Amino acid sequence: MEDLDTPRVVPGSADRILRTLEAFGLHWDGDVIYQSQRSDVYGAALDQLQTAGYTFECSCSRRDMSGTGDTGYPGTCRLGPTRRGVLTATRFRVPPDFVVLFDDGIQGKCRFNTHELGDVIIRRKDKIIAYQLAVVLDDALQHVTNVVRGTDLLESTAWQILLQQALKLSTPSYAHLPLVVEQTHEKLSKSRHSVPVEPARAGVSLTTVLRMLNHPPPPELENDVPERLLEWAVHQWNPVAVAHVRSVTARDTVHAK
Ligand SMILES: [Zn+2]
Repeated sequence: MEDLDTPRVVPGSADRILRTLEAFGLHWDGDVIYQSQRSDVYGAALDQLQTAGYTFECSCSRRDMSGTGDTGYPGTCRLGPTRRGVLTATRFRVPPDFVVLFDDGIQGKCRFNTHELGDVIIRRKDKIIAYQLAVVLDDALQHVTNVVRGTDLLESTAWQILLQQALKLSTPSYAHLPLVVEQTHEKLSKSRHSVPVEPARAGVSLTTVLRMLNHPPPPELENDVPERLLEWAVHQWNPVAVAHVRSVTARDTVHAK
């Protein structure tokens, strides 16, 4: 459960996520693990990276970085924070002009140059451990062998592989599924009136999603219960049907009225 951003955690949302997964026929092994209870593990890994010279402190403000987003940090503070007396974030120093290659189960051969990626933040100014570092440790501690997620995290994979190598952890296999986007190619979000999935309509949503993934269920299975739809989909699943597809456009069924 990704609840590291404590100030932004909405009470009850973790439980709602679990109930939604159950409604969709998706189950998990063992106990649910909360990132907020793993501070010691993340702190030890951060120390390890600092000791090995993989990090530097960055004093850049959001304004200094405007327009660059998450990627493409120009290396401003690589030789030390450029501002005095301000809070600093910790960045992971990526090797210069190095190409990260991986073979994605759906997107195929992926390559990212560290020059374009930039040095990623692994601990924020408010001292909260950032997603990239936490997720690498979570995967390793749970012996995750296959990561399946959305293409919005395709680029993050490159940083995660570099972090795994720096921490001497093994790299799992990755498969990045197309993301559902608006007609304008923007991500779904509350500000665009996208609605959350409704547990009570799990069968309808699964049918829609399977169609979007080029796996349309046969008429007799349309809008059926999640267990039957998933069983069918597992047997029919063919990654070639979505190979190299980065996004699919949302249809009216996933929009608010
Ligand atoms: Zn900086």
